[in-house]
Amino acid sequence: MKRFVFFCFCLLAWNVDYAQQKYTPYVILVSFDGFRYDYVSKFNPPNFKEFINKGAAAEGMIPSFPSKTFPNHYTLVTGLYPGHHGLVDNSFYDPSLHKLYSMKDKSVVSDTAFYGGTPLWQLAQQQGIHAASFFWVGSEAPIKGMMPDYSLVYNEAVPNEERVNQTITWLKLPEEKRPHFISLYFSLVDSEGHKSGTNSDDLRKAVWKADSVLGYLVNQLNTVDLPVNIILVSDHGMYELKQEEATYIVLSKLYDATDTSIITSNGGTQAHIYTRKADSLYNVIKKQESHFKVYKRSTMPKAWHYNVPRAGDLLIVAEPGYYIQDKARAFGNLKSTAFGVHGYDPGVVKEMRGIFYAMGPNIKPGTIKPFENVHVYPFVAHILGLKTPAGIDGDFNVLKAYYKR
Ligand code: AMP
Ligand code: ZN
Ligand code: ZN
Repeated sequence: MKRFVFFCFCLLAWNVDYAQQKYTPYVILVSFDGFRYDYVSKFNPPNFKEFINKGAAAEGMIPSFPSKTFPNHYTLVTGLYPGHHGLVDNSFYDPSLHKLYSMKDKSVVSDTAFYGGTPLWQLAQQQGIHAASFFWVGSEAPIKGMMPDYSLVYNEAVPNEERVNQTITWLKLPEEKRPHFISLYFSLVDSEGHKSGTNSDDLRKAVWKADSVLGYLVNQLNTVDLPVNIILVSDHGMYELKQEEATYIVLSKLYDATDTSIITSNGGTQAHIYTRKADSLYNVIKKQESHFKVYKRSTMPKAWHYNVPRAGDLLIVAEPGYYIQDKARAFGNLKSTAFGVHGYDPGVVKEMRGIFYAMGPNIKPGTIKPFENVHVYPFVAHILGLKTPAGIDGDFNVLKAYYKR
């Protein structure tokens, strides 16, 4: 395992006093990517049910727009909407940096120029609390010159149990080295939801596998005698579609995608277009609106907080049930099989809602009405006794009733 773990010495530059941390409780922020708000009632996973019975559980957590992995994981750890922290999608273009960001490109994933805000691990470390990340969006970049004390380069192949074991190992470090904030990430539910849709037996199995990972984590945490709060979240839900021609909106039919003066970054549920010809291109696309809407940046809904250059000069947004592809393609024997997507407007499409379940010494049990995911950050910060930065979008008051001193 050690070969994966980085120890960051950038902290020395911050001259932090770690004497405070022994009075601080612990928070493990666990993400089960793509775990929809209704999967527990739909699939009855026993460990999740027990966790919910003992803790505080939201009826749903509302992602930020767009309901994609990178924007929302980074919102969870910054308390900022994607338009405000900078990761406006899994892939996008930055017109002032002249660079494309893509979650699959390590050179940009580790480029600090893309990341705004103060991620939780950094907030903790700045205020004298050690932090660790077993994967999280943003944890591979030295944001404002600082990495998590302990972190890893994302590798989907690392077994889930190994992720839990490393978390326990961190919690067994001597106090002066022990992280009090740990992020932990699992992708299995999202992967299966994409593959087979939201009603398949394979998805039920994936949810039950996630459930046994949760059971293992809770059992292992019982072997460390520390005041640990566990917060289970997801970044978004999932929407089932059918593999057939009618599902797809084809960009190459709407405008000349070979025009080199137009840059397009297609996220499937929305496509970002960067061009100096926004007005004329808008008119061309607007005339063809069918199962999608096209927006000029200035006319995008306020609730998306998306009036930033990285969002695009134009944005094409698919209606739920439809998906954008670059070019037309043949379906062959894929025809009509189910698959899953996410990214739709979470303010409108309930299927985009994720989970928030929390349990621990600083959590008051109860049922929480659906709330926006920007509010997780100030809640975690409060448990850890951290002062939040000015200007965040999240508000501690939203979850205050579920905080116990
Ligand atoms: P999405 O396309 O929004 O469904 O993205 C989900 C995928 O993001 C998962 O299959 C993960 O493998 C991948 N992913 C999650 N976290 C990271 C990360 N920190 N670095 C790179 N890829 C990630
Ligand atoms: Zn995701
Ligand atoms: Zn996904």
